[in-house]
Amino acid sequence: MSAAPLETEAWEPVIGLEIHVQLKTKTKMFCRCTNGAGGAPNSQTCPVCLAFPGALPVPNRKAIEETVRFGVALGCEIAGRAVFHRKNYFYPDLPKAYQISQYDEPLCSGGTLVVPTPDGDVEIGLTRAHLEEDAAKNVHVAASGRLHGATATLVDFNRGGTPLLEIVTEPVIHSADVAKRFLQLLRQTVVELGLSDAELEKGSMRFDVNVSVRPAGSDELRTRTELKNMNSFTFAAKGIEREIARQIRIYEEGGTVDQETLHFDPGAEDSPPTRSKEEAQDYRYFPEPDLVPVEPPAELVEELRKQVVELPGARIKRIADTLSFYDADVLVTGGLDRLWADAVGAGADAKETANVLANAFVAAGVDPSAVDAAELAKLVSARAEIPRAAFDEALAHIGDAGFSAEPYLAQKAVSDVSELDPVIDAILEANSGQVEQFRGGKDGLIGFFVGQVMKQTGGKADPRVVNDRVRTKLAG
Ligand code: ADP
Ligand code: MG
Ligand code: ZN
Repeated sequence: MSAAPLETEAWEPVIGLEIHVQLKTKTKMFCRCTNGAGGAPNSQTCPVCLAFPGALPVPNRKAIEETVRFGVALGCEIAGRAVFHRKNYFYPDLPKAYQISQYDEPLCSGGTLVVPTPDGDVEIGLTRAHLEEDAAKNVHVAASGRLHGATATLVDFNRGGTPLLEIVTEPVIHSADVAKRFLQLLRQTVVELGLSDAELEKGSMRFDVNVSVRPAGSDELRTRTELKNMNSFTFAAKGIEREIARQIRIYEEGGTVDQETLHFDPGAEDSPPTRSKEEAQDYRYFPEPDLVPVEPPAELVEELRKQVVELPGARIKRIADTLSFYDADVLVTGGLDRLWADAVGAGADAKETANVLANAFVAAGVDPSAVDAAELAKLVSARAEIPRAAFDEALAHIGDAGFSAEPYLAQKAVSDVSELDPVIDAILEANSGQVEQFRGGKDGLIGFFVGQVMKQTGGKADPRVVNDRVRTKLAG
């Protein structure tokens, strides 16, 4: 591609994020239809969410409470009086031809999320957090499910009118890595506050990333571009990196960046534009005449403030005093740190438990809330003495009701040398090439030999004994 290397040092990236999370209320935002029920297409609808003339919206009290709960947890200012606005645009998934949202008087303003990183804390300021309704879902009739190549598009209104919390950050993020950490931490925060499942694959958390660059040291805000509707932390980070490089290249070549919305395709080299950006005036915002302003009672705000417990960001920092930053981060953002603390409290080694949880446990796909920490502690503590196959099987079942570690602990790994030696000898003989390489200094091959023995013994051998025996034999 371009020949001259980019002067990346001379440029500072500027990133701002807009995040949508679906609130898990029982009913939709302005009607009594079931929220998030799935079911047959268009089965969860009524005159309000289908926009029949004359149907009137009634705000969902729980959705307002949950938005305030979020606001007090992140130190936002809670509006004494918040207003719903109509955001007008025309699209098949929006039957009213406007979305009820909040504009200049949102429920929550300001606030911060402190994002711990290996290099220290980064404070990310929030602009606002407001409540709005989701659009319905267009279903494209094509083998790929995409618009491109579709013969028809159908609309499923089940999602239409479901409550969304939109969280907007200030343009104060300066790297893709911090943006990704922010998103991960925000996700875990809303999950723990009980507002949302925030499941990326299901679209109950989606985000738009806004990116610009500026000369390092300046505080100007240059034209930004936007990657919309992303639902992968990794792709968001990749998209940001790609966009930073593209904009730097444009400026270095003397060009200007156009404000536009780009489509991120992870497989492609670049992110093609999808449309030029609407301005606020294009939406003709005006106060929703069918709703009175929302005035959250001071007692409710105080009550919700009292319910705030230690947030995940603070726990990462606290746990990083005991474990490495990396381990603390994986445990907390994976929702595993409470189980970790309980298992350690029940006598398991802190580092060993963290390793098991971050690796084998995650791989086994077990729900941490279903696990008895005392049983996990027993298993972790006995890990070296029991066959690996028994350990793996135990982990696969550890979330089952009434799980007991006992039958697995009763299985002992084979550490009897007279039983292991013939297996080891046969393996060394069958792999003379690797033996030669190992003796020539390729020490990493020890893993290969141990792995072969584990395989031959169906995972029953004690890997520490095998390791010792293999080394002894190859040295001799
Ligand atoms: P909208 O997208 O509705 O026009 P805003 O103009 O308030 O809303 O900005 C939306 C997002 O874009 C915010 O997260 C903000 O931090 C971010 N943003 C605004 N200006 C810039 C910029 N120059 N560079 C990067 N991000 C920006
Ligand atoms: Mg935007
Ligand atoms: Zn409805």
